Amino acid sequence: ILEPAKYKRIVLKLSGESLAGDQGFGINPTVVEDIAKQIKKIREHGVDVAIVVGGGNIWRGLAGSAKGMDRATADYMGMMATVMNALALQDALEKLDVDTRVQTAIEMRQVAEPYIRRKAIRHMEKGRVVIFGAGTGNPYFSTDTTAALRAAEIEADVILMAKKGTDGIYDSDPNKNANAKKFDSLTYIEILNKGLHVMDTTATSLCMDNKIPLLVFNIDDHENIFRAALGEEIGTTVGG
Ligand code: UDP
Repeated sequence: ILEPAKYKRIVLKLSGESLAGDQGFGINPTVVEDIAKQIKKIREHGVDVAIVVGGGNIWRGLAGSAKGMDRATADYMGMMATVMNALALQDALEKLDVDTRVQTAIEMRQVAEPYIRRKAIRHMEKGRVVIFGAGTGNPYFSTDTTAALRAAEIEADVILMAKKGTDGIYDSDPNKNANAKKFDSLTYIEILNKGLHVMDTTATSLCMDNKIPLLVFNIDDHENIFRAALGEEIGTTVGG
């Protein structure tokens, strides 16, 4: 008999970068397979899993608009990128016999289901992993905001934010400042007041207003997604 899990339902936010591995761009199948294995184990502990995946490994709207492209168009391209990542994750999970459904915020019926909140919840009740693609479906938003929005909608207990290259939230960039101090825990208002770069302010305020706990941790350490999902307080905890 397994210990009862701390969380009943989680939203796992995977940045696009986290799927790229050390190559920094595109999708690294070995990395995706490792993530899928951890998700399978999380499911075996009875935790409902919803995944929000980013697209920065392929395309970021802001980068396109900085080069003169229309921002909304560039953002729609970014949302398409997240769908590619969602399908890669689905493929890796299904190869491990984990039932999954991809739901996209922009309809593409030949590829995935449209996002329907009650259906997403139903899938999880049946033990399926739900992967949310295409962000919120709106330009000018991020997949961090998507994670906050979906977590509120499906009443997730926590957002697990797996980051590449950092093991939590620091008071300054640890890659630039050797004296940067890591926080074990923080409140959302502190993030906003200190101007810390964790999520964009839209995502931060949505989490704050809806009291959604967040855990920010390093994806590179082996099994960290699994450990975080089972309730280990690795990285930085954000609440309040
Ligand atoms: N995006 C968007 N609306 C959303 C979510 C994402 O327009 O609701 C676009 C935006 O251009 C963003 C891109 O999709 O740059 C990829 O998402 P994000 O940058 O959040 O991915 P991550 O940084 O997590 O890899």
